[in-house]
Amino acid sequence: MLKRLTIFIVTILAVLPVSVQAQNLNRIAIPDVGGYLTLKCDLHVHTVFSDGDVWPIFRVQEAAVEGLDAIAITDHVEYQPKGEFVSKDRNASFRIAQPAAADAGLVLIPGAEITRKMPPGHLNALFVQDANALAKETWQEAVGEAANQGAVIFWNHPGWEGQQPDKVARWYDEHTYLHEKGLLAGMEVANHTEYYPDVLTWCLEKKCAILGNSDTHAPIEFEFHGDTEYPRPMTLVFATERSAAAIKEAILARRTAVKRGDELIGEDQWLRRIFESSISYSTKTVTLQGRNRVFLRVTNNSDIPYALVRVAPDTNIQFPGEIKLGAGQTALISVRARTDSLSLSGPVTVEYDVTNLHVGAGKAMRYPLTLQIDARPKK
Ligand code: ZN
Repeated sequence: MLKRLTIFIVTILAVLPVSVQAQNLNRIAIPDVGGYLTLKCDLHVHTVFSDGDVWPIFRVQEAAVEGLDAIAITDHVEYQPKGEFVSKDRNASFRIAQPAAADAGLVLIPGAEITRKMPPGHLNALFVQDANALAKETWQEAVGEAANQGAVIFWNHPGWEGQQPDKVARWYDEHTYLHEKGLLAGMEVANHTEYYPDVLTWCLEKKCAILGNSDTHAPIEFEFHGDTEYPRPMTLVFATERSAAAIKEAILARRTAVKRGDELIGEDQWLRRIFESSISYSTKTVTLQGRNRVFLRVTNNSDIPYALVRVAPDTNIQFPGEIKLGAGQTALISVRARTDSLSLSGPVTVEYDVTNLHVGAGKAMRYPLTLQIDARPKK
């Protein structure tokens, strides 16, 4: 009887649904631009299958909760310090994480980190078919194999202290070799907590995709919410759809930018679109009477707070020297004539630098604020 009861209970448990709890997923509000989806991607993370601390499924879960669209697991090809305890199959991390990614609606990209001394340093190969085949004698062979598999290859953390003690990124003949063979699709201008302005210059000059990734080894909360004030860096990919194939196409077409905390780094055309799609004005037509103050309401619908600084002194109309457009907030901007006798009608443009949008090394995005102004003298 006891045996039958046990069988009965086991059967019941087997068919009862597992309790499902709602998990709130964060949403990172950055507008879609230029007819593309803006996908938030971390293209460089590690697991226990190389020197990371976490199981592959954990990478999927934390990325889904954070509101990312895609991650690439890129365990080291040549460095498997936990091989005594876990499989040395270099495709294992992807295979383990893939069903969890499908469940979570996260795009998972197969990858591997070709880990060599500088030069050429560490290279990520994404969209690989078989990461085990990248284990070769020389880095040239490893890169050649990745290319044969149709991989997208990019240069990781060019100024990483572990390979450049002075933290200065250097371009070597080996990088010229990769670039000339069409094997260098992109470079990390941001990695973990670092930013390499020189690498941004190279990306712009050499037509490589601008990338920024976490390279996280521990749980993301440990690496980015403890001793730093901002979340993980991520690559924004402007893709035709939310799929691995579309992300690959977009990277090869260099439709990318980087979000690094409250900063965006990238080509002017993409940052401008994001900025202009983020903000809306209550009106851009202003009627001034004498020196009366008029307020415009400017709403920032994105999660990026924008900081604007006026770059030229205003003339006969007073605009704010600084404008802070908080994330998800509405700011009041005051405008007024400097004299009671001003009389003009037509467009007036004042130029601002958006100081947290980096379109070149040390170069902020310039934004012309144009208002239609009708100013009449005080009666
Ligand atoms: Zn790495």
